[in-house]
Amino acid sequence: MQEANLQKVYLSLGSNLGNRIENLRVALQALEKNVGTIDSLSKIYETAPWGKLDQAGFLNLVVCIRAFLPNPMACLTAIQAIEQSQGRQRVEKWGERTIDIDILYWEDVIVCHHELTIPHPLMQYRKFVLVPLADIAPEFIHPILRENTRTLLDKCPDEGAIDEWL
Ligand code: AMP
Repeated sequence: MQEANLQKVYLSLGSNLGNRIENLRVALQALEKNVGTIDSLSKIYETAPWGKLDQAGFLNLVVCIRAFLPNPMACLTAIQAIEQSQGRQRVEKWGERTIDIDILYWEDVIVCHHELTIPHPLMQYRKFVLVPLADIAPEFIHPILRENTRTLLDKCPDEGAIDEWL
């Protein structure tokens, strides 16, 4: 299949448990194998925990993948398998995790399903998503809010610390 025909999907990755950079590297490798080719990758950021504050900081990045999977639900199944293979246990909402992978966008498709919402419903409130997303897709227009990443970032109320890693 030609690259241009593949679906462009934006994923947010985060880790705050164990060897965080290694967890991200392993997840990216698994995404290349099971979801599609990496098109672009943001810088890596160290961020304060969000939602549940008494835990270690996260390393976060955003990746754009040319997905060879047929639809967003197949992508959700693939990322959940990757999370599980990296030992993620769902203990507490917003708690510590070896790897967390969220689907931000699948092209400009809107999905409202009890297991999957796209665009990710919290992305506009999270600097740890918008800052790396702005590295690789500053002009991408959110298909519901009708604003690009730069504007979403300007309006984002999140005051948590976020710094480039290294
Ligand atoms: P989390 O604990 O933040 O990884 O949330 C995982 C749950 O959110 C899963 O049960 C998914 O079915 C659901 N979910 C809904 N929308 C999304 C999305 N856009 N990306 C990833 N997970 C999603």
